[in-house]
Amino acid sequence: MYEKKDKKPGEIKPKLTSLAELGEFGLIDRLTRDVKYYHPETLRGIGDDAAVIDAGAKVLLLSTDLLVEGIHFNLTYMPFKHLGYKAAVVNISDIAAMNGIPRQMTVSLAVSSRFSAEALDELYAGIIMACDKYKVDLVGGDTSSNVKGMMISVSIIGEAKKEEVTYRSGARSGDLLCVTGDLGSAYLGLLILEREKSVFQIDPEMQPELTGFEYQIGRQLRPEARTDIRNLLVGIGIKPTAMIDISDGLASETLHICKQSGVGCKLFEGKIPIDPYTRELAKEFKIIPSVAALSGGEDYELLFTVNQGDYEKIKDIAGITIIGHMTAASEGKYLITPDGISVPLTAQGWDGMKSK
Ligand code: ADP
Ligand code: MG
Repeated sequence: MYEKKDKKPGEIKPKLTSLAELGEFGLIDRLTRDVKYYHPETLRGIGDDAAVIDAGAKVLLLSTDLLVEGIHFNLTYMPFKHLGYKAAVVNISDIAAMNGIPRQMTVSLAVSSRFSAEALDELYAGIIMACDKYKVDLVGGDTSSNVKGMMISVSIIGEAKKEEVTYRSGARSGDLLCVTGDLGSAYLGLLILEREKSVFQIDPEMQPELTGFEYQIGRQLRPEARTDIRNLLVGIGIKPTAMIDISDGLASETLHICKQSGVGCKLFEGKIPIDPYTRELAKEFKIIPSVAALSGGEDYELLFTVNQGDYEKIKDIAGITIIGHMTAASEGKYLITPDGISVPLTAQGWDGMKSK
C-alpha cells in the first residue's frame, strides 16, 4: 500500500477549510488578507465596486467580473446575444456604482469546442450592442479553449473626478438609504425561465409560455446599468455619501454599506419598491415579494445613502425611493416589517459557495 513518506505514524492531518464554510466573501477576505499596496496612487484597492486609481486630474475606476456557465448563466434559456449584453452591463454597473463614467473594457473568453463561431458572433453582437449604448470602447481581451462550458470575464475602466467618487464606506448615522427603480423582478424572471425550462424538458414539443412576463424576463436576461443616475443626482444637487449596485440582493448590499461604513441601519420592508405584477407573481410562486427584492439579486439598480439634510431634494424624485436610514453601529442592522417588528437584517443572496 502506498504511504506518504513524510507522514509519521499517528500524525493527525490538519483540517482543511471547506469553501462552503467560508462563503464567497469570507474566501475573498482570507485570500487577500496579506495584500499590500506599494503605490500611493492606489487610492482604493479591494473592497468596493471598483478600485480607484489616482491619474492626476482624474481618477480611474477599475473593475472585473467573471461569468461562468452553469453558475451565472444557463444557455438553455439565455440567448447568446443577451449573455454578451449582460456580461458588459454588469461591469458598467460597477462603474455607475462608483459614480463614474465607463470608458474602456476588455473581454476574455474560454470556450469548449461545443460552441460554433456563429454562437460566439451572437455573443459579441450583444457585447458590442452594450458598448454602443453605453459608449464604451472594447480595447482587448484574451481567448482560450476550455475543457467544458463557457466562461466570460470582462474588465472595465471608468473615470471620475476624485471628489465625485462614491465609496461603500461613506455612509454616516442619520443618512437616508435610497434605491433606484424597483427590485425583485429579475429574480421572478429567473423563476419563470426555470419553470418553463422544466416544462420544455419534459415535453420538447411544448413551447415555453413567456408572454405576459416580458418585464420580469427582460430584467433577468437584459439588465441595464444605471449610468443615468449620476447626472440625475448632479441635477438635483446631491452627492451620495455611499453607493453600491444591487447584484446580490438588497439585504446583502445594505450590509456591505453598513460593514464598510461602520454603521447600522433600519430598512423598512414596506417601503421597498416592487413592481405590482412582480408582487402578484411572487405570491404565485409562494414567495414573499420583499424576499425576492432582499435576496433575489441581479436587478442592477443602485443603492445609495444621502445626507439627512438632502431629504427635501430627493423625496419627490420619480424613480428613487427612500427605504430607510443608517444608524449608529451599536444600534444594529434591522429590517422593520410593515407591522413595526424589527428583525435582524441577514443576507441570503447569491453567495454561491455557501451550502443552502
Ligand atoms: P461586485 O459584486 O461589485 O463585483 P465582489 O463582491 O465580487 O464585487 O467583490 C468584492 C471586492 O473583492 C471587490 O473589490 C473585488 O475586486 C474584490 N475581489 C473579489 N474577488 C477577488 C479575488 N479573487 N482577489 C482579489 N480581490 C477580489
Ligand atoms: Mg458591484
